[in-house]
Amino acid sequence: MPSPKSSPAQQIDQQAQQLDSTDKLSALKSQFELPENGVYLDGNSLGALPIIAKQRALETVELQWGRDLIASWNKHHWIDLPITVGEKIARLIGAGVGQTICCDSISVNLFKLICAALAKQPGRTTVLSQVDNFPTDLYMVQGIESLLSQERCQLKSVNANNIEQSLTEEVAVLLVTQVNYRTGYIHDMAKLTKLAHAKGILVIWDLAHSAGVLDLKLDDCQVDFAVGCSYKYLNGGPGAPGFIYVAKRHLSHFKQPLSGWMGHSQPFQFSPTFESDKSISQCLTGTPAIISMSILDAALEVFTAVDMSDVMSKSKALTSFFMQGLKTLKLDQELTCISPQSAELRGSQVALTHPYAFAICQALIAHKVVADFRAPEVLRLGFAPLYISFENVATALHRLKKIMQNKEYLKAEFQQQGKVT
Ligand SMILES: *Cc1c(COP(=O)(O)O)cnc(C)c1O
Repeated sequence: MPSPKSSPAQQIDQQAQQLDSTDKLSALKSQFELPENGVYLDGNSLGALPIIAKQRALETVELQWGRDLIASWNKHHWIDLPITVGEKIARLIGAGVGQTICCDSISVNLFKLICAALAKQPGRTTVLSQVDNFPTDLYMVQGIESLLSQERCQLKSVNANNIEQSLTEEVAVLLVTQVNYRTGYIHDMAKLTKLAHAKGILVIWDLAHSAGVLDLKLDDCQVDFAVGCSYKYLNGGPGAPGFIYVAKRHLSHFKQPLSGWMGHSQPFQFSPTFESDKSISQCLTGTPAIISMSILDAALEVFTAVDMSDVMSKSKALTSFFMQGLKTLKLDQELTCISPQSAELRGSQVALTHPYAFAICQALIAHKVVADFRAPEVLRLGFAPLYISFENVATALHRLKKIMQNKEYLKAEFQQQGKVT
């Protein structure tokens, strides 16, 4: 317990120590390569490098590609990677076997699933989504709209709090991102899926900011379809392939339009006619990015003995501690928190708004606290439970306090914007 005489900053340090001492996941941090004296709060954009993944990268390039060359497809099971990696992800998202496969990016996988879901809903044309969804999700629907014509696909985007009342019988597909990429708001997967099904609507969940951090139960929630990426909380590395989930009950009447040879039931028969084996493999399109996928396969080893309910509990504790710290240091008077106050409704991030959000973010980076900026004025801090300690959070709070107190964000050097924010 902090003594009554300690300063607000000292109270935060004491609480951090206390919380770290009872953290079940604290040992995992040593499995990652992390900046010295820095705090990496951007694991929601690009997860940190697991040491085991670095070793795998060398092995895949030097020993497999370099020495065994094409024999590696069989010898090192490259051909099975989409399935083996898919099953490792399945365990983390509450999916039984045979429904999850690793391939392509979220954007491409959304194309496959939106088309496949629309095809299962003759007479219905609307794809309903949140207006503040991640842009690619909306862009992909817009692309399908122009490909198929509005007679077969029409995007309807509504405010996130109007989704429930917009679930009407014209809606073919509900496309919803579970955790809002800006605010971190979590949509109720069980409830929305159930409400949608009651109106005959199929649901695609985007798990970009959920997989690897929330305790997901896709099968229990009766989810139809889902997509996710692996370079955020799954730590698969830049541009690592994403994943697709198709519920078992849909696999036998499922047809996605990017029917490439890898999705064929017997790709090495080189038949001129596409035919699938009705398994989750029909979601594959072309040759998998083996180097990336092999690195991801290794990165997922970090999760082996980890219980996702512990990960989610720590996520809530980290963001709660940060938000409490903002109040203790009176930073909440200057920075407005737009993430839900209730931990139950909050993903593993905290979003703060300020007219100088971009420059504050740059100043934090100069002080080795890596966060990111989302236009127009959001400073976003991600708390990856596998490698962020409460001491890290305390350090970030102290450095942020200093930047705000000294108005360091007014310096010219922090105003320069790069291509990637
Ligand atoms: C990060 C993110 C994406 C990224 O899509 P890619 O095709 O993998 O680049 C998509 N949707 C959401 C909600 C995201 O947060």
